[in-house]
Amino acid sequence: MTKVDTLAIHEGWKPKKGEPREVPIYQSTTFKYDTSEEMGRLFDLEDSGYFYTRLQNPTNDAVAAKIAAMEGGVAAMLTSSGQAANFFAVFNICETGDHLISSSAIYGGTYNLFGVTMKKMGIECTFVDPEISEEELQKEIRPNTKCIFGETITNPTVSIFDIEKFAKVAHQNGIPLVVDNTFATPVNCRPIEWGCDIVTHSTTKYMDGHGVSVGGAIVDSGNFDWLAHKDKFPGLTTPDESYHGIVYAEKFGQLAYITKATSQLMRDLGPIQSPQNAFYLSLGLESLAVRMRKHCENALTIAKFLSNHPKVAWVKYADLENDKYHELAKKYCPNGTCGVLSFGLKGDRETAETFMDSLQLVSIVTHVADAKTCLLHPASHTHRQMSDEQLKEAGVDADLIRLSVGIEDANDIIDDLEQAFEKI
Ligand SMILES: *Cc1c(COP(=O)(O)O)cnc(C)c1O
Repeated sequence: MTKVDTLAIHEGWKPKKGEPREVPIYQSTTFKYDTSEEMGRLFDLEDSGYFYTRLQNPTNDAVAAKIAAMEGGVAAMLTSSGQAANFFAVFNICETGDHLISSSAIYGGTYNLFGVTMKKMGIECTFVDPEISEEELQKEIRPNTKCIFGETITNPTVSIFDIEKFAKVAHQNGIPLVVDNTFATPVNCRPIEWGCDIVTHSTTKYMDGHGVSVGGAIVDSGNFDWLAHKDKFPGLTTPDESYHGIVYAEKFGQLAYITKATSQLMRDLGPIQSPQNAFYLSLGLESLAVRMRKHCENALTIAKFLSNHPKVAWVKYADLENDKYHELAKKYCPNGTCGVLSFGLKGDRETAETFMDSLQLVSIVTHVADAKTCLLHPASHTHRQMSDEQLKEAGVDADLIRLSVGIEDANDIIDDLEQAFEKI
């Protein structure tokens, strides 16, 4: 099988004779046809073709196809952000009155999306401890449960999600497993190979890799048989009146899920990625494999440095041999997890602040997972809406500092951390 490094370079855009080698930016909102009938057939989903960038754009499609290939899926779509990707991934199969189960150890934004905003839409979410047993997880399944959700490597607690365990329970109950693979990227883990049905990404992070474009992606494995669970997924298995009664699962087979998300959700809600951003994303993808190796190498070096430091209370990084998640990391990410780790300082909140404010090379930013080393204190930044109890449930200690190790020379990062340690 072609390796992910090669797919990242060659998939998606396949130029013919005389065409541009790099994917062009189709910065056009609309596309021309010769007859009114040709155009009409596109609107009926009778023919495929471009007509309006909100629905499809050649640059975006090429980049989505590259990501689909890298994840080992059959189809993918780009969205304006990771938030939009996770929302669409779930909303494409959950309606008012439905229920989903999510690991509680997930990105703060997704936690709010499921726990607050989707609740207002009448979709209920049960958050479960990722360590839950299969038996306990089974008990949380309800007749209206439509999917299970988790993150391969959690942001910010960097724990490893046991994909096979959750996939097994999901499939026993005729529902898909959705996995946010942002931190691992398909270079370090391909969730579909472990039974996950739908993969999501905040492409804003490692995939773009340079902090220049917010974006998201959804990849479908094509493995979930919607028609075998007809009653659970009426959106895919009964006629869509807004397209003259098309039944997605019958007409599009393995492409049903992404076709519905594009032609229905994107048509109606509209959070597209701009073709310009898709182009930046494509450039990022080409070097993703090389960068991920360097991120992992650097992060392991820094994690060892921190572990041995007298001013550090604890370090979490699954590639460390004594880490709680090391066994799961070896299984799901044998070549390394990612560049993100978390640690706590000995001392109080003020110690943490002095430390962070003393850094020079390492910057304080909300962002994570790109070329430049940066850090963040989730309890006072990304997760500040959460109560202490919710923080605890999400596994975020109040003293947790999230360090996103970049691809600089590791010695320079260590020098900067050391001079900041000297200030506390
Ligand atoms: C950042 C992030 C998101 C949200 O993505 P945006 O592109 O910021 O909307 C979702 N999931 C994970 C794991 C993330 O790190």
